[in-house]
Amino acid sequence: MITVVIVAGLVGIALLLSFAWRSLEGAKEEEAVDSLADMAAMGDVIPPSLHPIIDTSRCVGSGACVRACPEHDVIAMVGGQARLINPLGCVGHGACAVACGFEAISLVFGTAERGLELPQVDRHFQTNQSGVYIVGELGGMGLIRNAVSQGAQAATHIAAGERRAPGGGADVLDVIVVGAGPAGISATLGALDAGLRVALIEREGLGGTILHYPRAKVVMTGALEFPKYGTVKKRTMSKEALVELWEDIRAKTDLPLITGELVESLTDAGDGTWIVRSNAGERRAANVVLALGRRGSPRKLGAPGENLKKVNYGLLEPEVFKDQHVLVVGGGNSAVESAIALADLGGCASVGISYRRTEFARCRGDNKRRIAELMAEGRVRGYLPTNVVRADETAVSLKSEDGSVETIENDAIIVQIGGTSPAKLLESFGIRMVTKYGEA
Ligand SMILES: Cc1cc2nc3c(=O)[nH]c(=O)nc-3n(C[C@H](O)[C@H](O)[C@H](O)COP(=O)(O)OP(=O)(O)OC[C@H]3O[C@@H](n4cnc5c(N)ncnc54)[C@H](O)[C@@H]3O)c2cc1C
Repeated sequence: MITVVIVAGLVGIALLLSFAWRSLEGAKEEEAVDSLADMAAMGDVIPPSLHPIIDTSRCVGSGACVRACPEHDVIAMVGGQARLINPLGCVGHGACAVACGFEAISLVFGTAERGLELPQVDRHFQTNQSGVYIVGELGGMGLIRNAVSQGAQAATHIAAGERRAPGGGADVLDVIVVGAGPAGISATLGALDAGLRVALIEREGLGGTILHYPRAKVVMTGALEFPKYGTVKKRTMSKEALVELWEDIRAKTDLPLITGELVESLTDAGDGTWIVRSNAGERRAANVVLALGRRGSPRKLGAPGENLKKVNYGLLEPEVFKDQHVLVVGGGNSAVESAIALADLGGCASVGISYRRTEFARCRGDNKRRIAELMAEGRVRGYLPTNVVRADETAVSLKSEDGSVETIENDAIIVQIGGTSPAKLLESFGIRMVTKYGEA
């Protein structure tokens, strides 16, 4: 009798577990279907670097790719097959392709319909412009370890070559590295290690895209080999540990870092050097390493007051805006996510969002739903449709479609209205580009 009860109990538990599992899988699939619809609503979305495409005629639905993806929400199972539900979330780990035992996944650049413009470089990462190198994600390959390795390789090639600052004058350098992400840091360390005179120019702060990761993000790095500094042998690190690593590198190697300078043009001086122009002036060097990443340059506010200190082009630390009246400008995912982050954190005197259209059309569904909730609750004030017409230290003025202007109290503006793609900037530097249409 006891045996029968135990067996019945075990069968009951098994049925319950299987029911719970199926419900969980069902809920996940529903979420995936929603994500696919959200992506479709956003139009043609091109991931900025290498990303997977799935051949459904080969996919057997094992789900190995879904489990392998370190970013978790890029691929999901829909109708028993793997689907790319969030191409923009892909950072190019490639773990999905490795995990798939049926060769159903290929890693490609661009899509068959819309190409992705990439710079043409040789095996040393030198472009068609002699002495100008492109390393890291700007060249199309994501991942921190690729960036670190490419930066070091470019520096080795420069060190082995003959292009040097003529006359050894203090005003001309051997190398200027632009962009202080992992690729630029590594290239600068390589140049320092080779005894070259080098400067590292960065528009924001030391660390690159990593500074924009969500707090406490677990980052898959693999071993990172930095010239001059040594090897960091960790498979994963938190965002904060990586930021500490950059600071340690800076302290131990005297990294020649110049921040707050946006490089705008690159011109051949005609004497074996390049003129690098930024918002702060001109510098010259025999070699230039461009490690700009693929985020591009943010579009500016386009109204009087756009150069005020209170105007920001991203939201790194929402806490900074405690007790402030903050206005986010823009209607895409980045702007909406900033407004959501500020409202969810609480503590701002007010959070507003100004957008030139009547609704957040080109935005993911989850962001649309959340911002609508926050606006309905009065935790975010929507100024739609409006355009910013001027800003000063304490206020910002918004013009509506009917021409009326409302001036509101304001301590900070976060502008997220898109930007210039890195391809445009590279073309203006005379760098030859190639367009990849879903090619491996
Ligand atoms: C959310 C997210 C998660 C990720 N997770 C991982 C992960 O787990 N593991 C992994 O390996 N990779 C991950 N990646 C990818 C990784 O962050 C990038 O591949 C890597 O940062 C590329 O390094 P980079 O040096 O080429 O460029 P970036 O890190 O983008 O650095 C470029 C730098 O150039 C500066 N710059 C750009 N233009 C100019 C200019 N005109 N003048 C001056 N400075 C300029 C920028 O401000 C920036 O600091 C992730 C990316 C994202 C967005």
